[in-house]
Amino acid sequence: AEPRPIAMVTTLNGYACQRRTPLQHHNAVLTDALLVLAEKAEFSENEGRSVALRAASVLKALPHTVINMENLQGLPCLGEHSQRVIKEILEDGKSREVEAALHSEQYQAMKALTGIFGVGVKTADRWFREGLRHPSDVASSGHRLNHTQQAGIQHYDDLNMPVTKAEADAIGQIVKEAVQAVLPGAEIILTGGFRRGKPTGHDVDFLITHPEEGKEEGLMPKVVSWLEARGLLLYQKTNRNSYLEATEGSARPPNNMDRFERSFSIFRLDMPGAGPERHPQAALLEQAQDDSSVGGRRVGESWDWKAVRVDLVVTPFSQFAFALLGWTGSQLFERELRRWAGQEKHMSLSSHALYDSKQKRYLRASCEEEIFAHLGLEFIPPCERNA
Ligand code: ATP
Ligand code: MN
Ligand code: MN
Repeated sequence: AEPRPIAMVTTLNGYACQRRTPLQHHNAVLTDALLVLAEKAEFSENEGRSVALRAASVLKALPHTVINMENLQGLPCLGEHSQRVIKEILEDGKSREVEAALHSEQYQAMKALTGIFGVGVKTADRWFREGLRHPSDVASSGHRLNHTQQAGIQHYDDLNMPVTKAEADAIGQIVKEAVQAVLPGAEIILTGGFRRGKPTGHDVDFLITHPEEGKEEGLMPKVVSWLEARGLLLYQKTNRNSYLEATEGSARPPNNMDRFERSFSIFRLDMPGAGPERHPQAALLEQAQDDSSVGGRRVGESWDWKAVRVDLVVTPFSQFAFALLGWTGSQLFERELRRWAGQEKHMSLSSHALYDSKQKRYLRASCEEEIFAHLGLEFIPPCERNA
């Protein structure tokens, strides 16, 4: 083993988009704790969330393990609260505030309820205050649920099971077949967490484009029909592209919400030969129920399937680099890029474009490297954007 550093002092830049943040880092004990506090703040809708996220992100970028408070000297984004939590963990092995959060009924219920696809913090909080604690309470409460939430409840277990890279690749093959059937020459690119090298994700994100600008228009409904005709979609909601309408008549781009033609969906991924052992609970369910059909899935046979969340986004070729940068994440890295652009460069970055407020013009880019260059940032490859 390497000798432990005694007083390792590292300086890091203040914006996450100026730092390299690998997937595997040296401070998981501390970042896990801070991420719980970020979640707790999110559940009670207070400002603490981004503060804790930024603090955790700084520790993720450190090339060594923090072993004492001196190690924190010169680091940005570590406020009084974060330092107190870190100190407690270094001294006692755990933070009382984090333990209390993890054990609180509110945290556990909010975690379970926001884990339902289609349920945000506001809805979960309202349900919590009405006494609901778990998705099964929601199902039996008689609340009117929208289609997204119905799908979210129906596929709750599957959607809360991590999606593996192998499953993402299998979905990629299906999407590729669909896209090429309805628009030959179109390209699909795996983005989101998997592009950053994550071994699992909560969903699978794809960008779809065509090198001939304009050919991609109206592509999504055709792809969706192709998939639906083959029974591959359990749920989908398609939004059309509203970018031009939003931009029309104003010199400045609208805001950071992106407006691509896109589809938030749930795929039905066949798992040939997987059997019930893939779902530990399936065997139990089978024993408990005479009916061997659970939520549409048949257990105890030689085939099985899994519900997987998939985001499909269609982008015009001229906006592809911006869309790729915007959909690769991490979410904090993206937020920091836009903060950097606005505060340090008087520019406005979205998943569609980069606008320079001083020159009063859009800056073009055909790859991510050009966007970093426009922003005066060193290029950070996707696997080091795990901020
Ligand atoms: P996970 O592995 O858990 O899916 P992820 O990094 O892929 O992690 P996503 O929520 O899938 O997380 O989002 C990927 C990226 O896509 C985010 O960084 C975010 O910037 C972008 N994104 C997600 N949803 C939207 C949206 N509705 N509009 C615009 N951009 C979005
Ligand atoms: Mn994702
Ligand atoms: Mn996504």
